Amino acid sequence: MDAARPPHRDDASDGPLAAAPEPSARATPVMEQYIEIKAANPDCLLFYRMGDFYELFFEDAEVASRALGIVLTKRGKHLGRDIPMCGVPVHRADEYLHRLIALGHRVAVCEQLEDPAEAKKRGARSVVRRDVIRLVTPGTLTEDTLLDARRNNYLLAIARARASSADGPSRFGLAFLDISTGEFRVAECDRSGLAAEIARIEPGEVIVSDALYADAELAPYLRTLSAVTPLTRDVFDGATAERRLSDYFAVATSEAFGTLSRLELTAAAACVTYVQRTQLGKRPPLSPPVREARGAALAIDQATRANLELMRTLSGERRGSLLSAIDRTVTAAGARLLAQRLAAPLTDPDAIDRRLDAVAAFVGDATARQETRELLKLTPDIARALARLTLARGGPRDLAAIRDGIAAAAALAGRIERLAGASAEVAEAAAALRRPEPALARELAAALAEELPLLKRDGGFVQAGYDAALDEARSLRDESRKVVAQLQARYAEQTAVRALKIRHNNVLGYFVEVSAQHGDKLFSAPLNATFIHRQTLAGQVRFTTAELGELEARIASAADRALGLELEIFDRLSNAVIGAREAIKAAAEALATLDVSSALAELAVERTYVRPQIDRSLDFRVQGGRHAVVEQALGDPFVANDCDLSPPAASAPAAQVGGDAGRIWLLTGPNMAGKSTFLRQNALIAVLAQMGSYVPASQARIGVVDRLFSRVGAADDLARGRSTFMVEMVETAAILNQATERSLVILDEIGRGTATFDGLSIAWATIEHLHEHNRCRALFATHFHELTALASKLNRLHNATVRVKEWQGDVVFLHEVVPGAADRSYGIQVAKLAGLPSSVIERAKTVLAALEADERSTPRGLDDLPLFSAGARPAMPDPRQRALEAVLAALAALDPDDLSPREALEALYALKQKVAGLR
Ligand code: ADP
Ligand code: MG
Repeated sequence: MDAARPPHRDDASDGPLAAAPEPSARATPVMEQYIEIKAANPDCLLFYRMGDFYELFFEDAEVASRALGIVLTKRGKHLGRDIPMCGVPVHRADEYLHRLIALGHRVAVCEQLEDPAEAKKRGARSVVRRDVIRLVTPGTLTEDTLLDARRNNYLLAIARARASSADGPSRFGLAFLDISTGEFRVAECDRSGLAAEIARIEPGEVIVSDALYADAELAPYLRTLSAVTPLTRDVFDGATAERRLSDYFAVATSEAFGTLSRLELTAAAACVTYVQRTQLGKRPPLSPPVREARGAALAIDQATRANLELMRTLSGERRGSLLSAIDRTVTAAGARLLAQRLAAPLTDPDAIDRRLDAVAAFVGDATARQETRELLKLTPDIARALARLTLARGGPRDLAAIRDGIAAAAALAGRIERLAGASAEVAEAAAALRRPEPALARELAAALAEELPLLKRDGGFVQAGYDAALDEARSLRDESRKVVAQLQARYAEQTAVRALKIRHNNVLGYFVEVSAQHGDKLFSAPLNATFIHRQTLAGQVRFTTAELGELEARIASAADRALGLELEIFDRLSNAVIGAREAIKAAAEALATLDVSSALAELAVERTYVRPQIDRSLDFRVQGGRHAVVEQALGDPFVANDCDLSPPAASAPAAQVGGDAGRIWLLTGPNMAGKSTFLRQNALIAVLAQMGSYVPASQARIGVVDRLFSRVGAADDLARGRSTFMVEMVETAAILNQATERSLVILDEIGRGTATFDGLSIAWATIEHLHEHNRCRALFATHFHELTALASKLNRLHNATVRVKEWQGDVVFLHEVVPGAADRSYGIQVAKLAGLPSSVIERAKTVLAALEADERSTPRGLDDLPLFSAGARPAMPDPRQRALEAVLAALAALDPDDLSPREALEALYALKQKVAGLR
């Protein structure tokens, strides 16, 4: 009855919100309470509980009605003006919260803290006690309905230490936690690494001090992040950081955090302080903060991440990303762990091998793999259920999740036993799966009913037979209901109204109802001695009786007692779960690990990936490599290609300088040949290998990469108001400044965003710098065929091209990467494929022929460029080239058939003038 009742807005027992006829300046008591609570939470929308609704008033109402598309009404007056109001029903609040949070709002949830009947006892004008019980912000969510099950939702705190000297670099401490799972980590970085770290973490909310938020240098960047909350400086106070952390974790000394730097401590303390603030003092079960070892993760900056479409595509979708292509996990926790591993691949070959051993174990045992995946499919998200229970925000279904999770963990431990010998990670997981006490699962299984309500206050979740006192209260309640039915029969007989009914609603409670035509009968003697009139509606009349009133009180007290007992049982079970949280968390982590390992194995088998060989060399040798995403999207078979960036063999021409570093491949070939695909597939193979996955290749041997860079020429970044070419150069500069011998660099058509000669010279110098200074392994795709000449001068530069075939004037792409240089661009053939009008194609061919003839007769000067040697930079291309280009372009633009004799003569003069500059 309770759950189905329609929401009613008028909380009869609450004082009037604002007396309509009272235009005076005095606020009503409810409004006074509202204003006081709102004043304490000025930066939040206030959800003010009134009966079955959360109401919003004043400006909040205007903001929310616009954001949610709900009706704005008014209710009463304040200071002589209408009070704007809108409301959302309590049972749909999550849905609206979700939308407000997604739009970047923060919401303070204000509840009624007592029964309205209590308030009434204090006097007619008294107000129900209310207060904010929780702040809902993007980074501190726990509800499944507000969270993406398959992604972590991190709250990130950034603390800064100013440089000691004016121009010294600032350092940043980062702490990030997911309160829905308890993960908590810290790291340190400098300004140049900040954006990359934040891109990796992808926080749902960022907290910084007021000062940092206002910092002239950082503010523009911070504004590009989705939800940044500035906080007063005490939250970021380094002096009290250790104490606040120790308090949170209830440890006497801060030794537990001894290895953390002061900056990390500051950021971590800011996190827990903010969590306590938003949870109003409740403490979600966090793991103690763990430092992320510097250099333990493959460094991937923001542009590279975006460009390689690791977690989402350039257009922002998950579909089409590497993550979605490789995700075969069957649990939400597994999906989150997979995303974490992909966001931060490792650099330690031993740690990588540990993960690969686990995948290999599942690859090698198809039965264990299938059984594991079947069992995991039935496993609920226990980490998040545990967090909700700890925050007293859990329901009966969370208890059931723990029950099923523990049972699944124990069953799984048995299945994977035989793999434990092959993989230390699996062995460890198996041990963790056995940690939760089976007795706890048994207790939960005995207590919980089959069908569970979402909310504990709905009752009915404890199984009959579990608790004697509860069974007794329930039978009393149910007995009384039978008595109601008997009473109805008796009244029907007594009044001779066969259609007489006893009904119930929230306003009247139990009442006798007859249709209007029978009403008079009950109003007259002798029946009017028994039946007391309550309400007359259009078609019905309602009465009560003394007997019914007594019965109602009995039913209510039995139901109240039953619910009270159930809630006690809930608390007891919930506390038992919280008491076992360490073991449950360990089991939850083990489940996620096993999901990831078995899912990666499933992927490897399904798509015939191989185990990469990872070591500390500088090798990069991929045979039969494929693009993990493109090959799945492609209908046609994907053409596999080799790539070898390993240092030239030690036996190569004796002790060449630099012979020990990795190679650079310079890839030429027409548009659409597959250059970009080839570049990216190799970067993705490195990422996959180092995250501990098999790779799409027939063989791969990779000396661990420390940093991965990927850039595409002329990428658009108009949103940040920088020209595309500027972006390209800023990004290229970052690579040239940061890439080490151990890095892998992917450069795709750098220099495309400017005039030909500019671009060519920049590409030229960039290759030289990579080869001589960075000495990194690199793949460089270009349409500047002139660059292939560099191979004869740079010993570790290798020319490769993507083969095409010309067939009856058309071009056929073979997507095959072979040694050598492309001879031409086939741009016109591609244009033809794209459907340019044939007149334009023909005209372009004529112009091209003219230009090529011209090129052969004119020395382009590039062969004459002094090659890079220490100290001597290549000269910029001759400015005469530019003039020559202008002449050729002017010539190409002329159509003699279109010119009058006079125009032809003028054109000739103009050309001669341009040529004069060339002499
Ligand atoms: P480019 O960078 O040389 O212009 P792309 O790498 O963008 O070429 O590739 C163009 C298209 O060719 C891709 O969209 C893909 O469909 C196809 N392609 C690329 N490489 C392969 C391959 N190895 N096998 C099959 N198809 C490929
Ligand atoms: Mg391309």
